[in-house]
Amino acid sequence: MTKSFSYKCTSCGYTDEYTKLVGTCPECGGEWLELIYNLNETAYIWRHELPQRDRTMWRYWELLPILDKKHIVSMGEGGTPLLRAENLGAMLGRRNIFIKDERQGPTASFKDRQASLAISVLKEADIKELVVASTGNVAISYSAYCARSGIKLWAFLDSNVPHEKMREVTLYGTEVIKVSSNYDRTKQVAAQFAKYRSLFLDKGVKGISAREAMKTLAFEIAEQIGRIRGVGWAAPDWYIQAVSGGMGPIGVWQGFYELYRMGLIKKIPKLAIIQTDGCAPMVNSFHKGLETCEIVQNPASIINVLATGNPGPAYPYLRNLVLTYGGAFVKVDDQASFRAMRVMAQMEGLSMEPAAAVACAGLIKMVQEQLISPNETVVINASGHTFPVEKQILENEIVRSHIRVQNLEKEVVEEDNKTEPRQRTSEALPQEGLLTALRRLDDRVQSIVIIEDELDARVLLRRILQYTRKYNIFEAADGNSGINLIRTEKPDLVLLDLMLPGIDGFTILDMMKADVELRDIPVIVITAKDLTSKDYKRLSGRVESLLQKGEFMEEELFESIRDVLK
Ligand SMILES: *Cc1c(COP(=O)(O)O)cnc(C)c1O
Ligand SMILES: [Zn+2]
Repeated sequence: MTKSFSYKCTSCGYTDEYTKLVGTCPECGGEWLELIYNLNETAYIWRHELPQRDRTMWRYWELLPILDKKHIVSMGEGGTPLLRAENLGAMLGRRNIFIKDERQGPTASFKDRQASLAISVLKEADIKELVVASTGNVAISYSAYCARSGIKLWAFLDSNVPHEKMREVTLYGTEVIKVSSNYDRTKQVAAQFAKYRSLFLDKGVKGISAREAMKTLAFEIAEQIGRIRGVGWAAPDWYIQAVSGGMGPIGVWQGFYELYRMGLIKKIPKLAIIQTDGCAPMVNSFHKGLETCEIVQNPASIINVLATGNPGPAYPYLRNLVLTYGGAFVKVDDQASFRAMRVMAQMEGLSMEPAAAVACAGLIKMVQEQLISPNETVVINASGHTFPVEKQILENEIVRSHIRVQNLEKEVVEEDNKTEPRQRTSEALPQEGLLTALRRLDDRVQSIVIIEDELDARVLLRRILQYTRKYNIFEAADGNSGINLIRTEKPDLVLLDLMLPGIDGFTILDMMKADVELRDIPVIVITAKDLTSKDYKRLSGRVESLLQKGEFMEEELFESIRDVLK
């Protein structure tokens, strides 16, 4: 089977039919070429044929730059599950968070889509040797596909690529050249080598294959969200990804844009570009309002996979998309990413590599900054698997636990020095974490009554408490059964939501204070309400502390996990 489509140079507008691999514009030498397909015809074919096709990314082959299907090099890439993150969602108060599990590719990262298309394109063009620069995952994936199709690969890896990844690349028979410098410099060295030897150089985000391959992520996500909602195709509100060179979000956007033009989806998702503090050229440049990117000369993140200091034309492209269609540029630090990594493993059973966890840390930060509203549908790209566990992470982990222990001791000391009276003014109502509050109350707390009408919040509180200790936990979902439970159980602690069906939390507090048997039971108030000064007066001096719903969740969880790991 063959098909026809054309390409267009984004610099000079030159357009021609695509009959064989084109690297640069024949008119102006421009490197950024875009492809133009027959979208109407494709929409018709997909509506009728797609359900019967295999679930690999090649089910969308009409919109991929391969002329003849017989050149496809495939190992079942694509077709990865879209998993609802129930627990993370409950924790963040966001019901519709989905993980696109790209760890399930043939070499365990989303680079497999890129590799499958890029190597198929080379096979079609009868190219036998290839040069690539990589921070690890591209080299692994390209190695596998090159091995399969008999193409010789030269992989230039920067000196921060972990040994485990270098070894895997070597195993495939790839020629590995380790460059003792950073990734940007490694790319230059690879380009010089390719030029000198007249070999084909993979151009990453600037090449057609990388971006085109990433469109299939969008196609799958739209099919999967559509299936969940029972509407055929549908776009999420957000696509969140950890970004280095930017190929993922650009390609994914192109995919959604094509679906939009085909009339299959009605809106285009907002893109969230997440980078690490130590290498955030795009995020920093965006927030400075810059049109071209300020290069990071020496990336200082230990998450080497995301070490593109100079993203070139990918930055203005993404900036324009975010300004036009909405979205966010967000940076997170390495430690937040490692915490997110543990949360995803322990809450959702998903072990990701640190680079992938950067996207999850980004999501958490975006929820805290209220960039994502409760009803929005969010898709996070779990872009790669942690296996084997990188040694540098484990070393770091050991150091981290020392730090933690010191912090804990410090907290305890500070706690002892406090001479604050129990009676507090409204301003002094402590707003602290649940576990800090629990630590402050002593070991005598054995039984706890939770009065909270939202099931998710109840389940989460129970989980956090059970992580901490074997408490005896009683739950009530409304005010009346709540006060009855307090009367019968006489617990050591009450966790009280203020807004409840039936009698509300304030009234329960009044009832407790009016009862000699109940008035000394400590109460921690959990609220999603913005408290007025009148509210504060009603609580003042009568509760242990205040927890803001949504906000406390994350810190609590991290703390509790930390305690479990001790
Ligand atoms: C390559 C890679 C990224 C970054 O992808 P880009 O879209 O090219 O910026 C993120 N996570 C993992 C695991 C990767 O391998
Ligand atoms: Zn041109």
